[in-house]
Amino acid sequence: MRAIIVGAGITGPVTAMALQKAGIEATVHEAYDRTADGVGAYLTLAPNGLAALRVLDIDHRDLGGFDTPALELRGSGGRVLARLGMGRDDDAGTVSQTVRRSDLYTRLRDEAVRRGIPVEYGKRLVDAAVVPGAGSGAAGAAGVVGPPGAGAAGVVASFADGTTAEGDLLIGADGLHSRTRAILDPACPPPRYTGLLNTGGYASGVTVDGPRGVFTMTFGKRAFFAYANRGPGDVWWFANVPRAREASADELAAWTPERWRAELERLFADDAGPALELIAATPQVIGPWNTLDLPRVPVWHRGPIGLVGDAAHGISPTSGQGASLAIEDGVLLARFLRDHRDPAEAFAAFEALRRGRVERLIAQAKRTSNQKIPNPLTRVLRDRVILPLVSRAAARSTRDWVTDYRIDWNTPTTPTPTPR
Ligand SMILES: Cc1cc2nc3c(=O)[nH]c(=O)nc-3n(C[C@H](O)[C@H](O)[C@H](O)COP(=O)(O)OP(=O)(O)OC[C@H]3O[C@@H](n4cnc5c(N)ncnc54)[C@H](O)[C@@H]3O)c2cc1C
Repeated sequence: MRAIIVGAGITGPVTAMALQKAGIEATVHEAYDRTADGVGAYLTLAPNGLAALRVLDIDHRDLGGFDTPALELRGSGGRVLARLGMGRDDDAGTVSQTVRRSDLYTRLRDEAVRRGIPVEYGKRLVDAAVVPGAGSGAAGAAGVVGPPGAGAAGVVASFADGTTAEGDLLIGADGLHSRTRAILDPACPPPRYTGLLNTGGYASGVTVDGPRGVFTMTFGKRAFFAYANRGPGDVWWFANVPRAREASADELAAWTPERWRAELERLFADDAGPALELIAATPQVIGPWNTLDLPRVPVWHRGPIGLVGDAAHGISPTSGQGASLAIEDGVLLARFLRDHRDPAEAFAAFEALRRGRVERLIAQAKRTSNQKIPNPLTRVLRDRVILPLVSRAAARSTRDWVTDYRIDWNTPTTPTPTPR
């Protein structure tokens, strides 16, 4: 089998490496040029994502991040509400890793290339057509995908530069605004705005309290602020700013760096903690941008075309799980393709396993995001009663089913397609 993978973010290279382990060839097609890997935001990889990478013999120490052993949640006055661990003892002390997204992309792509997987740049998918199999009766046409199980003979992907690629299946790992998703289901609802703007940066030359790597997160009077001490004088932070309506591109552009910095200073002026100091010590504040998720994508696959990662289930960054779920996806889909051989069956089995887990997490992340939107009338109740209760409950439940999730690569999956 030969797979066309669309997107060389996190899910694309991981899926390609997992397919290689399963004995399936893949080529990764990325819309942007290689030089587009710039500075930008960072993310935290949780123990479940790190464990999925270990299935591919990728060690967390090779990702360029730093240990993030815990989160500490605080109210706007500085009171500690809860402390949540971010590791697991039976993984030889492995804890969550905080890493720049661009470092993670680059390292995963480089590792895929080192393993002999082709990654092609400047290949923006515009369309995909199923090649009908003998006796399927399905006509292949650009953008028209045959019925599942129609015995497709393959897929032809068309790119914006006029080139095409052929394979037995196509995996859309093309992120939150996936073109593959639109090809599968033009009526799919667009990503949802979660009510928060996102922003952040890297402060230097400033010293803050707190153990190295631990994220201190403050539910402030007007907005949410989080920071972690990466090392002496090196502090990474982000903030979530409530905004009722999704900002248009023009509205975002109107926040010049100076105006945005002044707005952040206003928002955090009355909260405990070092937010103002950190913002002042940040040469370039990143953002703002809208925080989006995708609560339910109705169609994950048709015939030999399927979705993985954010293309199938974008989740708010509040969860700290988007990248980890994406990595799990890549490894699990490869396991199903190894065992089922018919891509349509493998995609169906993958969806049956994954949909419940990811949609439950997306809903949980949205509830947490809602707590970041302070209401002046109920804020005291939120800080004194709701947040401590919610945080403690989250600390107990999340570890069981989210971060303790492990993939058993070696056990064959049952080759039974799921009814749709
Ligand atoms: C600010 C921020 C903070 C986050 N924090 C966390 C966190 O702490 N923990 C966590 O686990 N997750 C976090 N996430 C989420 C995480 O980054 C995503 O879940 C993850 O990147 C999804 O990986 P992906 O490969 O599916 O999509 P992406 O990383 O978006 O990659 C998609 C790739 O596809 C390419 N592409 C798009 N369209 C096409 C096309 N038509 N043709 C070819 N290529 C195409 C894109 O250029 C890109 O390279 C955060 C996200 C953001 C934005």
